[in-house]
Amino acid sequence: MIGAGMAGLACAVELTRHGRRVIVHEATTHAGGRCRSFVDDVIDRMIDNGNHLILSGNVAVHAYLNHVGAENALVGPERADFPFFDLDTGERWNLQPGAGCIPWWLLVPGRRIPGTGLAEYVRGFRLAFACSEDTVTSRVGACGPLVRRLWEPLTVAVLNATPDEAAASLLWPVIRETFGRGEAACRPRVARRGLGPDLVEPGIDWLKRNGCQVQFSHRLRALGPVEGQATAFLSFAGERIDLGVGDAVVLAVPPTAASELLPGLTVPQGSRAIVNAHFRLPAERAGPFVIGLIGGTSQWLFVRSDVASVTVSAADALAEEPADDIAARIWPEVCRALDLGPQPLPQYRIVKEKRATFAQTPSEVARRPAATTRWKNLWLAGDWTDTGLPATIEGAMRSGLTAARFAMMAV
Ligand SMILES: Cc1cc2nc3c(=O)[nH]c(=O)nc-3n(C[C@H](O)[C@H](O)[C@H](O)COP(=O)(O)OP(=O)(O)OC[C@H]3O[C@@H](n4cnc5c(N)ncnc54)[C@H](O)[C@@H]3O)c2cc1C
Repeated sequence: MIGAGMAGLACAVELTRHGRRVIVHEATTHAGGRCRSFVDDVIDRMIDNGNHLILSGNVAVHAYLNHVGAENALVGPERADFPFFDLDTGERWNLQPGAGCIPWWLLVPGRRIPGTGLAEYVRGFRLAFACSEDTVTSRVGACGPLVRRLWEPLTVAVLNATPDEAAASLLWPVIRETFGRGEAACRPRVARRGLGPDLVEPGIDWLKRNGCQVQFSHRLRALGPVEGQATAFLSFAGERIDLGVGDAVVLAVPPTAASELLPGLTVPQGSRAIVNAHFRLPAERAGPFVIGLIGGTSQWLFVRSDVASVTVSAADALAEEPADDIAARIWPEVCRALDLGPQPLPQYRIVKEKRATFAQTPSEVARRPAATTRWKNLWLAGDWTDTGLPATIEGAMRSGLTAARFAMMAV
């Protein structure tokens, strides 16, 4: 296994569960890739590189957590409930999908998002028939209350792209697998303490307990495919591993690294940024909880104990601004959303992930490669491979499971 991000971890756990001997080679000193936690010395709290929202319907994430004995890692409300706050109008509402697969609750005006009409929701079903060239805007329209209060925040959160560029074909599978299965599948979940202690470390500990070797600071520099046959060797700094019959390689690295290792591989080339702003609050809050924010810079506000963290996705322009300016712009929105009244800017940390995900536009989605390669013992995994899902933890983990199944069938 090359790469210990969420795709690599899911793949390694699946292979190990099925009795395969696995060695994980990770380039950095830690696992988790784009999911990581660290203790920030400015706000003096453990924070994640970025808030990660998981839904109860994310089956691969929950299966992984169960396998590694971390079933209590995620927390969230007992029923699906998404509070929203409109920074322009000051309105608050809660999006609470109904229990069944058919959204009967949309027929009740009081259950709908304020200002939206039934016809707008009906129009949303056009996403189900999106073709590969469609953007979200080309299916649901460019304006209207439902676009502003649902389709835009949902698209930006799920696809890390604005509706006018985001591939509609990736949004519908998420709606089908979560909202389409009723509220039990769309309960919001976040890591209890952080991504590191709750999602990543339990996987690494389980792998080590079950005989898997995990080698950190072990970057794959080259691999030697024999034309038309199979991968023959792996080359690390100062070390070469020759592969024998029955050995298989899963490459679970980001697209740029994969294309450097496998010249000629078609991969998505563009990426989109996500910016997170973490603020130390004056006092602890009950929670954790998540609020969707409309009409400002902030998009989602996550509160855990005395830390408020704001996520801004599709944030390439924002990521170019100085951290001080970003904090000064976002903090008043946090104060309003949490009813704190005007407060001086507290200690904060801005984390810019300039390549948070690949650019999930129709043309880039068309460049996603399959898990299989032309070599008989080499498979690809990662959120950028052709999972049919957006670049999320769930997509990354499903890609890892797919690669594991191919590897087990072949060797
Ligand atoms: C700020 C932010 C917010 C996000 N929010 C959400 C969210 O709310 N919900 C959600 O589900 N998803 C979210 N995501 C997306 C999610 O984090 C990713 O989809 C997922 O973590 C991708 O996992 P991966 O294993 O495919 O890739 P990566 O995490 O990139 O893992 C690849 C691994 O390969 C290693 N590697 C690279 N080159 C080599 C080499 N040559 N040799 C060995 N190892 C190598 C890397 O060090 C890394 O550990 C967010 C992402 C970011 C950045």
